[in-house]
Amino acid sequence: MELSSLYQDIILDHYRNPIGRGRLLEPLGSAFHVNPTCGDEITVDVARDADGALVVGHEGQGCSISQASASVMTELVQGQDVIQVESTRQAFLALMHSQGLGEPDEVVLGDGVAFAGVAKYPARVKCALLPWMALQDALIKGQIVVPATDTQPASE
Ligand code: ZN
Repeated sequence: MELSSLYQDIILDHYRNPIGRGRLLEPLGSAFHVNPTCGDEITVDVARDADGALVVGHEGQGCSISQASASVMTELVQGQDVIQVESTRQAFLALMHSQGLGEPDEVVLGDGVAFAGVAKYPARVKCALLPWMALQDALIKGQIVVPATDTQPASE
C-alpha cells in the first residue's frame, strides 16, 4: 500500500496516541463491531454532555488504520450535535467510497483527509469504516438520532 508519507504519519500518530481511547462509564449506547477480513475489533460508546453534545469513547484492537480511524472519528465528532455528527459521518463515508478520487474537505474532515489514500484499497476501506459503523450503531442504540423533520407518525 502506498500512501503519501504525510498521510501515513497522521495515521500512525493517531494509532500511537489515540484520542478518546477507553470506555465511557455511563454510555447511552454502545456497539461492538468486528471486521473479519482483517481481524479488527472495536467497541464504541456514546453519551451526551449537559449541552447535548456528543461524548465518545472507544476500545479495540486491530490494524493501524482501524484504530487510527477510531481516534480521528472521536476527534471529529466529539462535542458535535447530532446533525453535525451525521454530516461529518456522511462526508467520511463519501471519501471512503470515492476510490481515491475524492477531494476531501479538510474543514469538515480534519485529519480524516489522511484516509483519502486508503480509499483506493477496498479491503482497507472496511478497516477505516469500522469505527464509524460502530458509532452509527451506538448512536441508534442510545437513541441519539436526528429528529424526523416530517410530520408522519413513527409507526415502525
Ligand atoms: Zn484492519
